[in-house]
Amino acid sequence: MSGPPSALKREFTSDDPVSRRIHTLRDIDAQRLAAGEVIERPVSIVRELLDNSIDAGSASIQVYLKGGGLDSIKVIDDGAGMSREDLSLCLLPHTTSKINVIEDLTRTKTLGFRGEALSSIAACSQVEVISSTGEDEEVYKAAAKNGILSPLEKWRGKKGTSVQVTALFHAMPGRKKFLKRPQTEGTLCKSMVIEKALPFPKIGFKLFMQDELKLFLPPASRMDRISGAFSALFPEGSLFQVSDTRNDFSVTLISGLPSLFRRDRKYIQVFVNNRRIQEYSLLQAVTYGFSGFLPGGLFPYSFLFIDVDPEFIDFNIHPTKKEVRFRNLPEIHHTVTSLLRKTLGEGGEKHTEAMETPPLFSFKQGTSPANFSDLREKTPYYSKPASAEQDTTPSFSYLGQAFRLFLMAEKENSLFFIDQHAAHERYLFDRFKAAPPAVQDLLIPIRLELEKNESDLLEKKKETYHSMGIGLERISSECWKVTRVPAPWTSDKDSIIELLTAAATGQEDMEKDLFSRLACRDAVKEGDLIDDITAYELIDYVFSLNHPRCPHGRPIVFTLTKDDLFRQVERSF
Ligand code: ADP
Ligand code: MG
Repeated sequence: MSGPPSALKREFTSDDPVSRRIHTLRDIDAQRLAAGEVIERPVSIVRELLDNSIDAGSASIQVYLKGGGLDSIKVIDDGAGMSREDLSLCLLPHTTSKINVIEDLTRTKTLGFRGEALSSIAACSQVEVISSTGEDEEVYKAAAKNGILSPLEKWRGKKGTSVQVTALFHAMPGRKKFLKRPQTEGTLCKSMVIEKALPFPKIGFKLFMQDELKLFLPPASRMDRISGAFSALFPEGSLFQVSDTRNDFSVTLISGLPSLFRRDRKYIQVFVNNRRIQEYSLLQAVTYGFSGFLPGGLFPYSFLFIDVDPEFIDFNIHPTKKEVRFRNLPEIHHTVTSLLRKTLGEGGEKHTEAMETPPLFSFKQGTSPANFSDLREKTPYYSKPASAEQDTTPSFSYLGQAFRLFLMAEKENSLFFIDQHAAHERYLFDRFKAAPPAVQDLLIPIRLELEKNESDLLEKKKETYHSMGIGLERISSECWKVTRVPAPWTSDKDSIIELLTAAATGQEDMEKDLFSRLACRDAVKEGDLIDDITAYELIDYVFSLNHPRCPHGRPIVFTLTKDDLFRQVERSF
């Protein structure tokens, strides 16, 4: 292990004492700042320690948490361990045994590679590392407190490594304020253990919280690991596994049958070279694979494991390595979608033709429509247009949110600023048009007192409102009773009165008025934070529109070309 001089190292050199102290302080501050980016909260520590134990080739790993990880985190493994020399260096910044030269970064398959984790943890907490390679029964302990390393101590134990972290963020009182309750932090840590355990089914994992065994995952097959990790979610026989290998990559998908579904994408999880990543277009690839087998708005359970030659990817663009760039993304995308379509398609045929072989999937009564053609009729846009398959990778990149209102996207030679409220309004409006919301009878009807002329007008519009799910009864010449309304409106008397006294006449205008009011009410507002996946969906939708205007007619998008921008800074092409 080697690296540039560092604050921690300098403690051991014999510089002039005064300047040494100043340097040390500055460097430790800088290091704490940098550490803050990698180590956000207890779960970040759990992630890094597990990565290290996995990289060390462990067969079994135990995690012990106290106070949800806020009081103490300990990870014990039976991996390769560290020699005395490596142990003395591992808490120093930029020390890693995993890459020697920067070019190695393109070849690495290990989870860690920056040599930042242990030193960052040491900079913001108290750490003890006990390790042995199993040779000559040599066991040592390294420790750091307040960013200062203490000398190695001879210790006892067996082959492997144990890392214990206490006094978290003691040097960063500001950070402490942002941490949540122990229970919440503990739940995050538990999810992290599962996230790390899924791609490594051959490694056994145990998680103890306050000394109680909370998770026990013995070595298993990929599929058993998944059902073991989420024991309550997958009944026996509800998962299926498919794989495909290409020249530069292979994919394995373990998915729930379409009869199991959710309203969110929480359980579409993508792992690349055993690391969980957030890559919208791969979530989309899975969703497309299931489209036609699940109604729109419902999402499958699907775990996608991609193994790809490290030459084709770059993990190094995000400090916590959640993002990755692929060179062969379109090909992977296509493989995933078609693998799922093919398998689910075969399952569908079996379902109708050969009843002696058990169908790959069958819908449970009440959880899903009886067959696909039913589904198709009832849900007008249950699947993407046929063109979806040819062009499934988003053609734009999402840059983020500005003023908590504009979603910014870059596409070809332009920047697009998309009004999130207007975009979402339009999206909902189009949905209501395609599939009007359910209606609900009111237990207590709403009483309406109107002017005589308003009342007469309403009389004329009454039948049309009926067809739109609004039940009206005239009690007297100026008094009305509203008996049923679209479900989203059951508790919103004012909106109903506004609608009923609005100027719109004629079926088309009245419907438009209703849907745009409903859409406006449900749409995200200015000031709302939008997660990346929702942003991608909205932008994708806006780009699919011929006339991107909101239901009230306002434009949704503002465009700036590269030309415009270059001209602003008097730059020529
Ligand atoms: P990285 O994982 O990026 O190399 P870390 O700061 O996480 O950096 O760890 C520094 C080094 O300490 C690793 O490269 C490895 O050599 C050693 N190390 C850390 N944890 C373990 C472990 N559990 N078993 C064996 N070696 C370890
Ligand atoms: Mg590491």
